[in-house]
Amino acid sequence: MGIPACEREREKGLGAQDLTAIVDPKSISELLSTPPPGPAGLKSILRKARELRGLTLEEAAALLNLKEESELQDVYAAAGEVKQKVYGRRIVLFAPLYISNRCSNNCLYCGFRRDNRDLKRKVLTPEEIGREARALADKGFQRVLLVAGEGREGTEVDYLVEAVQAVYRYSPLRIVHLNVAPQTVAGFRRLKEAGAGVYQCFQETYHPDTYKLLHPSGPKADYGWRLTVMHRAMEGGFGDVGMGALLGLYDYRFEVLASISHAWALERDHGAGPHTMSVPRMRPAKGAALTQVPYPLSDTDFRKVIAVYRLALPYVGLVLTTRERPELRDELIHIGVSQMSAGSCVSPGGYAEPEEPAAQFEVSDHRPLERILEIILSQGYLPSFCTACYRVGRTGGRFTGLARQGDIKRFCLPNALLSFKEYLLDKGTRELRKAGEKVIAEALEEIEDMSLRQATEAKLSQVEKGFRDIYF
Ligand code: SAM
Ligand code: SF4
Repeated sequence: MGIPACEREREKGLGAQDLTAIVDPKSISELLSTPPPGPAGLKSILRKARELRGLTLEEAAALLNLKEESELQDVYAAAGEVKQKVYGRRIVLFAPLYISNRCSNNCLYCGFRRDNRDLKRKVLTPEEIGREARALADKGFQRVLLVAGEGREGTEVDYLVEAVQAVYRYSPLRIVHLNVAPQTVAGFRRLKEAGAGVYQCFQETYHPDTYKLLHPSGPKADYGWRLTVMHRAMEGGFGDVGMGALLGLYDYRFEVLASISHAWALERDHGAGPHTMSVPRMRPAKGAALTQVPYPLSDTDFRKVIAVYRLALPYVGLVLTTRERPELRDELIHIGVSQMSAGSCVSPGGYAEPEEPAAQFEVSDHRPLERILEIILSQGYLPSFCTACYRVGRTGGRFTGLARQGDIKRFCLPNALLSFKEYLLDKGTRELRKAGEKVIAEALEEIEDMSLRQATEAKLSQVEKGFRDIYF
């Protein structure tokens, strides 16, 4: 049984709102010819961005059109500073947990697409999901992102609710985020009640004609149903949503400007922008219909994308996945990324049985979590396994409000210290502990408010005594 067409239209309707109030493709296309800013213009744009005042779409377009390497370096440096101001030196770690590769859609770039007859399909049972979740918890993760193909329309929410519950029932993981197909408002309510944290969904491309071409059949063929999903998720109780465009499907500058415009529409209509912005870049995928990336973007273009998102939307979490190469990932930490996946497996069941071949696309960074942690530490950053905000309701507008006042660091930094200390004690090797304790000591010194510093020290010693899951 599918969702009746009239319900789809009503849910998509958002009252009197029109899709172009979220993203207006025509005006975004026109902005692509904005010239680069020139030295004085660049200075003034970056000054404003450093004050955490964001960018206009024209300013973002001008930065995206920059070519001069020395000017780009200034943009990256400003992005790194903005990240530091909002979030401090912490980098959040997570892993995806693929629960199903069955899919009723036919996205031409994806290995899970329905017409890929060579893919072995697998839908994990609650027990199998529990096994995967425990395998991730054993590695030291505290948060997972459940990922699935789109099941039969109108029936899959029951499965997703069961999946979320299975993670909590069978594993000690503390928060479950979702990257699954768009739901109705009622469906989102059920997922929220089951304990889901962030709802993440990528528009793939905001360019309507390209969208139509790449999504020929299945529920996902409806551009408007997808474009309005964040509004439905928020109406259904998700204070935190994660957005993104799959880079490489169309002109990356168009996608960045459209994503920023989408973020603003959410803030206008729901009082809070997205919690995260992801930057997935298209990868080769076995069984995909596309054998080449339609609009390839270079590493320089990709750096620009990250920096412009960071400057335009200073308070969003910027998420980088293992789709990118190790050397590039290590470098991007400095220009605004605040969350990273690590040790990822992109096929259902792949953590418990690593030989599973049914992957969605080719991963580029195969390094295990411990190695990523070593690198983060060696660059002076602090790994975080914190899950506090979702569990105490510091979400949506409340989170953004705190971030705006510069207060999110008051939670993020101490919670990063506490959760990472826990990791070091329970899973860390001797070398990692040594490097970790050094960064923890340095970061403690950075807490200027002495009463907060002392409270953090007190909680750290509780962790040392064996207490767990302690946070502000
Ligand atoms: N099936 C749901 C959907 O499409 O929204 C959610 C999960 S889907 C497995 C997660 C994301 O993987 C998609 O939104 C898409 O952006 C990304 N993806 C698909 N094929 C890809 C590829 N070849 N390279 C990189 N990312 C890809
Ligand atoms: Fe299915 Fe998502 Fe892959 Fe599209 S991207 S084929 S909806 S799993």
